[in-house]
Amino acid sequence: MLEVTELGNRIDRVPFQNQNVPKGVGSQHAPKRLRSADPGGDRATLLDQLQQWHDRGITFAVLFFDLDRFKEIKYGLGENAATCLLEMAADRVRHCLQAEDVLAWLGADEFAVGLPRHQPQGAAVCAAERIRGALSQPFRIAGQEIRARARIGIALNAPEDRDPAALLDRASMAAYGASFDGNIPYRMFDRELRDRTTARFEIETELRQAIVRDELQAYYQPIVNLQTGAIVGFEALTRWIHPQRGAVPPDEFVSVAESTGSIAALEMQMLRQTCQQLRSWQQQFGDLSLSVNISVQHLCCPGMVDGIARIVTETGIAPGSLKLEITEGLLMEDAPTLVAVLEGLRSLGIQLYADDFGTGYSSLGYLRRFPIDAIKIDRSFINGIAERARYGALVRSILTLAANLGMPAIAEGIETAAELERLRSWGCPYGQGYLFSRPVDRMAATDLLQQAPRW
Ligand code: C2E
Ligand code: MG
Ligand code: MG
Repeated sequence: MLEVTELGNRIDRVPFQNQNVPKGVGSQHAPKRLRSADPGGDRATLLDQLQQWHDRGITFAVLFFDLDRFKEIKYGLGENAATCLLEMAADRVRHCLQAEDVLAWLGADEFAVGLPRHQPQGAAVCAAERIRGALSQPFRIAGQEIRARARIGIALNAPEDRDPAALLDRASMAAYGASFDGNIPYRMFDRELRDRTTARFEIETELRQAIVRDELQAYYQPIVNLQTGAIVGFEALTRWIHPQRGAVPPDEFVSVAESTGSIAALEMQMLRQTCQQLRSWQQQFGDLSLSVNISVQHLCCPGMVDGIARIVTETGIAPGSLKLEITEGLLMEDAPTLVAVLEGLRSLGIQLYADDFGTGYSSLGYLRRFPIDAIKIDRSFINGIAERARYGALVRSILTLAANLGMPAIAEGIETAAELERLRSWGCPYGQGYLFSRPVDRMAATDLLQQAPRW
């Protein structure tokens, strides 16, 4: 634990050990003061310090933070780079603290800070802003530029709080809350947060059971060839058919599945279910394609390419009819593991689509770095093309970009005949949206195929 006392800079304990960081990755960046060989051992020392402050009647705040997408970075760039990132982050945080503060490494990518202050709330907010600012600058590790912002939770002690571990838990809960509150930089613990977190944990538990009980069901939204007006395939969109709540939309559970590690099981189940369905439709109705959304967390899981290869073989679909949609939003650049996974999927003959194109900060970089076959133009660009010249100009530019790259474009969220007409006249090859059909269950999708509408 870092403790800067009135005697000068004295470091009692340090964030972690550095023996495994090879030259060239960590050595030029690593702080020189690393000694602790006890990952997470700082926790006990921190709790001890908090207890002492409490016993002496000193008011204090506890900040807890972890690093956004640390796992992705670890799997994408390797353990050594991840360790190096932690060291550099700890070093930056140290410079944000005052002499009497303590910094503890709790294990994995989790850190905590204790701030003894007369006015702990204001001090905690200032410290959180400084830490957030320090960590938001990119890290240069092993020749890569990595962004790994912190989500910070704050808890304040009250005289009646006897258990410092409970305070640390509250700070950690607040950090967790910061991540699902629209990614705000820091959050103070309060009662409302506790209730919501409890509810989220319930979702987490229920979701695990839902996967086992097969409560996840694919809905299908047709993808239409805009020139012929015929259905060419479907996008599968996951719904959780909850015994009490009915069809729960994905934004209520996909992020929970991502943060709790059940996303791979969920998506593999979806893939198996939808590829089987595709096979049966292909036998009945001929050539059709299927788009399935895949989370980056899942892509980074070991064995995912083999898992998908197995599903393709077992269900007997042509790999070329399967498209995996990946939403941009990767924070790392040129992540070698990710590129290897995407290349692996493509070598199976599967196509990769850039989903929600234009909404992330790195759309163009994404096309340069990753082997992408098609672009899905986010519906926020499509809504309004009929009324606003600026929207139209943007969509036409994206269509030109896609055409120059030799990639088909799919317009998402077409809701009006006017939007369809514009897209058609600009030569947009494919589209989907409520104008054609909302996502529907497999029976309704089969009916649609039977009716073979032409829009
Ligand atoms: P997405 O892949 O961009 O899917 C399109 C979303 O837009 C779907 O929402 C769809 O219902 C909605 N949509 C389609 N047409 C229209 C329209 O004309 N107007 C409007 N307002 N909305 C339209 P949904 O089903 O709620 O899915 C939301 C997101 O959840 C998806 O966005 C996708 O990113 C994610 N998702 C769904 N299933 C999975 C999954 O199995 N794995 C992962 N990782 N993500 C999934
Ligand atoms: Mg999608
Ligand atoms: Mg989309």
